[in-house]
Amino acid sequence: MNDHPRSLHDTPHAAVNRQTFDTVMVPTYAPAPLVPVRALGLDLWDQSGKQYLDFTAGIAVTSLGHAHPAVVDALCQQASQLWHLGNGYTNEPVLKLAQALTDATFAERAFFCNSGAEANEAAFKLARKYAHEQAGPHKSRILSCVNAFHGRTLFTVSVGGQPKYTEGFEPLPGAIFHIPFNDIAAARAAAGDDVCAIVVEPVQGEGGVMPATREYLQALRELCDQTGALLIFDEVQCGVGRTGALYAYMNYGVVPDILTTAKALGNGYPIGAMLTTTAIARHFGPGSHGTTYGGNPLACAVALQVIETINTPAFLGRVKEASALLLQSLEAIAADYPQVFASVRGSGLMLGMVLADGFRGRAKEISKAAEAEGLMVLIAGMDVLRYLPALIVSDAQIVQADGMLRAALDTLLASA
Ligand SMILES: *Cc1c(COP(=O)(O)O)cnc(C)c1O
Repeated sequence: MNDHPRSLHDTPHAAVNRQTFDTVMVPTYAPAPLVPVRALGLDLWDQSGKQYLDFTAGIAVTSLGHAHPAVVDALCQQASQLWHLGNGYTNEPVLKLAQALTDATFAERAFFCNSGAEANEAAFKLARKYAHEQAGPHKSRILSCVNAFHGRTLFTVSVGGQPKYTEGFEPLPGAIFHIPFNDIAAARAAAGDDVCAIVVEPVQGEGGVMPATREYLQALRELCDQTGALLIFDEVQCGVGRTGALYAYMNYGVVPDILTTAKALGNGYPIGAMLTTTAIARHFGPGSHGTTYGGNPLACAVALQVIETINTPAFLGRVKEASALLLQSLEAIAADYPQVFASVRGSGLMLGMVLADGFRGRAKEISKAAEAEGLMVLIAGMDVLRYLPALIVSDAQIVQADGMLRAALDTLLASA
């Protein structure tokens, strides 16, 4: 095809490989040995042509599968019309997307950015600004949960509850306090008039695929109402249909003041959003917050197509059906391999297999063995195998993945 490459773009892909990563990339990641080159739905092919079944969806991002035709179409159509303007101008896709998101949720206002971390950064800044203007600068403490994950900017890693992500980056932003997840008494003890926000993932993702209890989210709502703090739900991972509801808060019947969403919102095209009410949104004025790319027409046209595709009763009903089938499969595997797995937990198509005590710390080994069988799965920490397949996963693919994981476990146990 490319006998005479004229630029880097024309270089056949075999000219770069996994080893190239170690010579030209800042080593913030340790990627798998395979380099994917093409994907369709949940099927993916690497440089050597080997096929994989993708049950990671790019970490809960490509929820409509790879190269979904309606999303590709929305992208291509918008790409030939208008990509970018800057915030001195608004545009039709961003207004339509804001309308769709506010029609579909508790929210009345939307702010757009490019990632989950940026959506949370906006939420935390807005909560501080709101509290300072309503009550004064003493009201600035943020409560968040142990093991929470909110992104990688300095503010969001500091609010996140995993010390391994802040070590070495001190000094950190202050007035942040961590409480154990799902512990109502601890939340009550930590709450007070100096708290501006309580932030929580309705289903903790990176922290181990752990759903909040209804009582816990209700208690946080009450605490916020009593103290004037804002309740922030980080739905970056669990939102956009992942749990079988458009947003997980809808399953719980507990409404936040601010909701952050990203990941699946663009199905792989970078976009994030912070959703809130008019009364809270008015504490941000022109110039108080922003980002160059936020709300650009290209990202918004894609996200609008994603929301319109996912937010139908039929689509969300199918997510629940697929969830029940996958749960059944994982529970059967856990029962058949009790030396490996202790339990299965999660919500919708966000499921985790918790390792048994005798297998602690070995999640990565299992995911690598699965990959060798052609199944891509994630881990959440070293003790949980994490399943986040595209929401369009078929019954046949769930059965196929079941067989692949069993084969991987048999190989792993035989070599031990
Ligand atoms: C992934 C994630 C983030 C960060 O999103 P980025 O797009 O990587 O910045 C924040 N919160 C949760 C719950 C996430 O899963």
